[in-house]
Amino acid sequence: MADAPTIVWFRDDLRVADHPALAAAADRGAPVVCVYVLDETSPGIRPLGGAAKWWLHGSLTALAGAIEALGGTLVLRRGAAARVIRSLVDETGAAAVFWNRRYGGPEREFDTALKAELTDRGVEARSFAASLLFEPWTIRTGQGTPFSVFTPFWRACARAAEPRHPLPAPEEIEGTAATGDSLDDWGLLPTRPDWAEGLREAWTPGADAGHARLADFVAEDLAGYDEGRDRPALGATSRLSPHLRWGELSPFEVWHAVRERRSGGGAGAARFLTELGWREFAWHVLFHAPDLATRNWRAEFDAFPWPLLDEDALRAWQQGRTGVPLVDAGMRELWATATMHNRVRMVVASFLTKNLLIDWRRGEEWFWDTLVDADAASNAFNWQWVAGSGADAAPYFRVFNPELQATKFDPDGEYVRRWVPEAGTDASPEPIVDLRESRAAALAAYERVKAAGR
Ligand code: FAD
Repeated sequence: MADAPTIVWFRDDLRVADHPALAAAADRGAPVVCVYVLDETSPGIRPLGGAAKWWLHGSLTALAGAIEALGGTLVLRRGAAARVIRSLVDETGAAAVFWNRRYGGPEREFDTALKAELTDRGVEARSFAASLLFEPWTIRTGQGTPFSVFTPFWRACARAAEPRHPLPAPEEIEGTAATGDSLDDWGLLPTRPDWAEGLREAWTPGADAGHARLADFVAEDLAGYDEGRDRPALGATSRLSPHLRWGELSPFEVWHAVRERRSGGGAGAARFLTELGWREFAWHVLFHAPDLATRNWRAEFDAFPWPLLDEDALRAWQQGRTGVPLVDAGMRELWATATMHNRVRMVVASFLTKNLLIDWRRGEEWFWDTLVDADAASNAFNWQWVAGSGADAAPYFRVFNPELQATKFDPDGEYVRRWVPEAGTDASPEPIVDLRESRAAALAAYERVKAAGR
């Protein structure tokens, strides 16, 4: 029994450093079966979007290399995860299954049920905190309820214990003979057409690339982050979001890398840590409202009179052909590189929901399919934040004016020119919507929400 292996089930934590489940398995001393399950069949598990699949392929390749360097093998299996883990336990005679926690609703239900089942069978099942700095149930208001406003939430986090220091990767693990699928057979990469050229140029998935990016950012850009972060042309933000989304970097690694530089980072470091706080808050909100991607967080928004979907307008927005330069620049950046600067994400989301009067869920779905950092909490949370229906949301009557936003945050027009070279020329189409009139229509529609909230 002492030699019966430990299964480590990798999910959104595709790294070997600061991986508490892997560290505990290595400490157990028995052989370790490292497994990743591509689960596209369990009910309630949201299928990955195209850009996410592209990233996952690269990330699993990198993880497999890192596990091999420790002496193990990454076993790839496909199917309903509970069934796959169950059969892997039978096949390997594993005495223990370890994993790092997930916080989505269906995921938690699966994990809880599986833990109970394994425990009943005499298999040790243990879960660890690894993906959030603060476990969502530990941060509560004075009344014991979840927070719905960011600032007091983040203050409560600051009063909690400082996030722990990251754990080193195990020095080695003993592998087993368990085998699995070939990654290439999973078809995660696009073939015909191969739309991923821009992604390959923009990104390198994997923990090594994430660590290199973190080190560069802390050394070069952290001090100027506060000033530069809202300027899309500058590249002043960290671009760590996909590495965090896939757990190639842990938030503990990022937190402490920044804290150690804080004396040299000043306002930039403080601001950056607050942005990590928004990631925490998004997960906190999702933990307490698991259907955040589909249901208005503020119920009175159910009264919002969304008009019949204008498919042409939605397509023009998706393709960056609205005739509004900053919106089109953002949407083209997204299509080419599978990311978009945060300021521009806010502008395009406001334009979709308020100027085009298209339900935020259509935008959330498009981002889910096209972002490499598409994240169950941050995406839904931010869409609802912009739409006005979310926690601590921008008020609905705050309609971003894309022209003013461009003047303020892209004053030389550099970002717009990069993505919309025809902007300002005769080749530039007329906007598909009048910004002033559509703003007024949005505010009139909002009156229904106000009435429902009374
Ligand atoms: P930095 O400015 O360097 O920030 C550092 C880290 O803090 C980010 O990597 C991210 O993990 C976190 N962070 C920063 N801003 C936010 C925020 N507003 N909410 C939550 N976390 C934040 N972020 C995602 O990771 N996944 C998404 O699917 C996602 N969808 C979004 C949709 C909309 C409509 C909007 C307005 C924002 C969305 N964001 C999402 C938040 C934000 O735009 C990205 O995290 C950020 O642009 C990533 O770039 P960066 O790593 O250079 O960020």
